[in-house]
Amino acid sequence: MNKPEKPLGSNAYVRKELALACRALADYGIGDIDRIYNHVCALAKSKDGRGKVMLLVPFAMPWKLVTPEAMLEVDMALGEDGFLKLDETSVTEVEIVKAMVKARPDARAMFHCHPVYASCLGCIKDEDGVIEAVNVSCMSVVRDVEYYSNTGKKHYDSELDRWFNALGQKNVLMLENHGVTTIGHSVAQAFDKMVAVEQACELQVKSLSCGKPIRLLSKERVDRFIKLIKESYSDHAQVHLDSCRHLMPGIQWPQK
Ligand SMILES: [Zn+2]
Repeated sequence: MNKPEKPLGSNAYVRKELALACRALADYGIGDIDRIYNHVCALAKSKDGRGKVMLLVPFAMPWKLVTPEAMLEVDMALGEDGFLKLDETSVTEVEIVKAMVKARPDARAMFHCHPVYASCLGCIKDEDGVIEAVNVSCMSVVRDVEYYSNTGKKHYDSELDRWFNALGQKNVLMLENHGVTTIGHSVAQAFDKMVAVEQACELQVKSLSCGKPIRLLSKERVDRFIKLIKESYSDHAQVHLDSCRHLMPGIQWPQK
């Protein structure tokens, strides 16, 4: 089982960062399909700094309109009682997050949505629906993806447990004929993975649409790229999310 790699962020900081990530994903055009069925959560310290809470984006709220103040909050110490305080429209968020926390206690944030190109690739049968290393975007995510078949099943209860168990130690789950779930040790990591997987799928789907053979990048090239990213930035994902702060002008960013 993974150990938590990062301490919880402050309540104020995680609220702002989660709102920023939602707005940035909307700015990328991710999350527009089936937008009311997008699911987002992050774990943070309670407002008094002594407890742990789960922050949820309210059901059906368009990502481009999410604000730090809009988050629903569940006190994790209350367990089921905390969840019961949420209205029933948040039932899916609650079930997803409970399954995530159980299977991956190291996770701090989760996004689930149905972006166009990842959904397209998820509809292609067998190994042809697998992300290949054809470009930089693909290289940053290609080794961090698991694939899951859930066609025709509701994603509640044990189905959600199977999602996160299928994920293992990876952070991106491509769902057959469905969409994508990403998790991370921070809001930034889960956000960055969602952008990377959608961009990788867009490149692959558009390349396939040309009807010509695709030139794949070598294993060695992928190795070099991943090493370069690790050496260039202590936290590539955080740099990516921070670069989107212009989408929330006037915000004062508190300490993590
Ligand atoms: Zn879904």
